[in-house]
Formats: sequence, structure tokens, C-alpha cells
Amino acid sequence: MSIDTYQRMSSIQSRLDLIRDSLPQGTRLVAVSKFHPASMIQEAYEAGQRIFGESHVQELQEKRHQLPEDIKWHFIGHLQTNKVKYIAPYISMIHSADSPHLLAEISKQALKYDRKIPCLLQLHVAQEETKFGFTPQECLDFMAQGEWRSMAGILLSGVMCMASNVDDEAQIAYEFDQARQVFQTLKVQYFSHDDSFCECSWGMSNDYHIAIRHGSTLVRVGSLIFGQRV
Ligand SMILES: *Cc1c(COP(=O)(O)O)cnc(C)c1O
Repeated sequence: MSIDTYQRMSSIQSRLDLIRDSLPQGTRLVAVSKFHPASMIQEAYEAGQRIFGESHVQELQEKRHQLPEDIKWHFIGHLQTNKVKYIAPYISMIHSADSPHLLAEISKQALKYDRKIPCLLQLHVAQEETKFGFTPQECLDFMAQGEWRSMAGILLSGVMCMASNVDDEAQIAYEFDQARQVFQTLKVQYFSHDDSFCECSWGMSNDYHIAIRHGSTLVRVGSLIFGQRV
């Protein structure tokens, strides 16, 4: 192993350790590896990391074959319905289920492989216009309408959100709390006896320290571990 490789490894390892040590019990790390090469994912893997987040289907398909089989791949980016079929055989969780139509397609594809794919309902709580997701009201309406009950290929496992990209920590905390409230409402109304509905996915490099104080069970951290994306 070259000195250079060793230095990069120890750096990824130490960054991973720093983040993992700061997480409360019950919060897990999704290492967001999009745009970073398989070699860096391998380094993180050797440092004990098993959950990786990717946001582009093509990129994920290519990297996956170069990496250990026991990696748990989480899909975190906007997912086009016509691409679900490629990841359905193996994806561990889809954080970005942002429409009824997409959920129906995930279910359909999962059933072809005799699977139930864990899915998080992506909520739009940020101020930015461009983000995908259900508004809290749309999410509650979708659940009340009940069609999800017939989607046998999905396992509804919680909610996901992205906060506004702002410096105002109170605003970010407010948005996480809004998502947490939706989670609590759904938990009480539909999943009180269902342990698999348990995940609150929020917190990225810039705001995961806030997220862990506001109910996050899965933080999705990329650049803090792997450096800036190119
Ligand atoms: C890229 C991305 C992240 C990680 O962002 P960092 O700022 O690099 O930590 C988290 N969640 C989603 C949905 C992303 O697309």
C-alpha cells in the first residue's frame, strides 16, 4: 500500500470515526458517496462503513459491481420511474419516494424479485421551490387515501427531508421538527404496531449536528467524509 493511499485511508477513517462518534444511539450514518470513485467507497468500507447513499442510477450500477456485496445501498436522489427496475433487485432503501406514482412503480418492480423495498416518504419542508417531495398535507392525504395498503412490494419505513440551504439554524430546526411531526402523526395513525416504520432521514454535512437534536435516525453525510465532489 502506498503512503498516499494510506494517508487518504486514515483521513476517511478518521472523518468517519469523528462523525460516527458524534451520533447518539439510534442514529445511523449513510455515507453519501455520489460522484466519488469506488476506491474511496472501498476505503470507507474498510473503515467499517456499510451503508452508502447514491443519487444516480447509472453511477450506482457501475460502482456496485466493483465493491463488496454486503454493502447496503441507499438511494437518496430523485428517482425516475423508468429507472426503478434497475435497482429493484438489490437496493436496501429508497429515501426519495416523492410521489404516489413512484411508490406504485417501486412496488411493482420489487414484486418481480419477490421483495419488499423499504421506502421513506420524502417530505417537502424547505423554502426552496425546486425540491421534490410531498408537502406535509399531501403526505397525510396520500396516507389517508389508502392506496398504499395495496402496494405489497413496498415497506413504508419512515420519512425523509432536506432542510433549506440557509445559515439560520432555527429555520433548519423548524423544518426538521415539521418533518418529525408528520412522522409522529403517521406512526400513531397507521404504524403504532409496526416496528419497521421507524426512520427519520435528515441531516447532511452542513446540518447533521442540528438533525441529531431533532429526531434524525439516519443522517446522510457526504462531503464531510469524502471531500468536495468534483
Ligand atoms: C448529496 C446529498 C447529501 C449529502 O450532502 P453533503 O452536503 O455532501 O453531506 C444528502 N442527501 C441528499 C439527498 C443528497 O443529494
